[in-house]
Amino acid sequence: MTIIDGKKVSASVKEQVAEETKKLKEQGIVPGLAVILVGDDPASRVYVNNKKKACELVGFKSEEYALPATTTQEELLSLVRDLNERKDINGILCQLPLPKGLDENAVIEAISPMKDVDAFHKQNVGRIMLGDYDFLPCTPAGIMEMLHAYGISVEGKRCVVIGRSNIVGKPMAMLLLHENGTVTICHSRTKNLAEITREAEILVAAVGRAKFVTADMVGDGAVVIDVGMNRDENGKLCGDVDFENVKDKCSYITPVPGGVGPMTIATLMKNTLKAAKLQNF
Ligand code: NAP
Repeated sequence: MTIIDGKKVSASVKEQVAEETKKLKEQGIVPGLAVILVGDDPASRVYVNNKKKACELVGFKSEEYALPATTTQEELLSLVRDLNERKDINGILCQLPLPKGLDENAVIEAISPMKDVDAFHKQNVGRIMLGDYDFLPCTPAGIMEMLHAYGISVEGKRCVVIGRSNIVGKPMAMLLLHENGTVTICHSRTKNLAEITREAEILVAAVGRAKFVTADMVGDGAVVIDVGMNRDENGKLCGDVDFENVKDKCSYITPVPGGVGPMTIATLMKNTLKAAKLQNF
């Protein structure tokens, strides 16, 4: 069994981004990312801080807009429109979830598709379906990069994704399909879930429930990717997979923390770099 080291893979992705950023800077171009955070959700604050740190590391300009929970829809949209116009901002990200009363879809749709480094805009989602895209959503793309780094081929494999969110589950399934996996998507209405997951050669858990995937749900030799970011009964960060009891059945498994999370941020850096290139050349 191999524990996939997301920190290590993400460090090498960020190193590559830093190198390319250096070259861009020699041509007078500094990639810029604007991150919008509305309200005071502590988990969102941690994610935003990590994104800022990564920007510093790779040499990007980063701007943070921390807005109060009382921000109106119009104020938020007006900020997005201003950022759309800015030449020095190549990527715009609005940290989700937004406080109640704000329309997430309207905000996503307001971001220029060229600056949509999360790849949540309808136009980018459609392009991913067609396999003709500039940006891929950060978490699923980060997972694919991690599989590649470990030489894990998807071709012809039985892949099972638990979760069908627009952010993780659905695009994850699509990317596995692009690489010729045979993909099943499971969700809260799926019957006999364990029967399906046991068949998986590659199992991706994106449920949002601590230790949801137990050893009896995993087949021998499976590759298990844990997207979950949950708190256990002691408040400790843990994934969707019961890591201690599942790991010995796996050929590969990602830990939480140190698995998918760092890859998500590394991919955001890649997308922002790409946005800067697309907008300048
Ligand atoms: P989400 O929007 O809440 O989606 C959860 C999915 O799990 C839904 O499709 C839901 O099914 C399904 N589900 C819930 N209970 C289930 C059950 N009993 N059996 C089977 N499926 C079930 O969450 P998300 O945004 O995709 O995120 C999932 C997890 O990943 C969360 O812990 C989140 O914090 C984490 N995450 C991590 C990263 C990272 O960088 N590591 C990035 C994004 C998200 P229905 O559709 O039927 O309701």
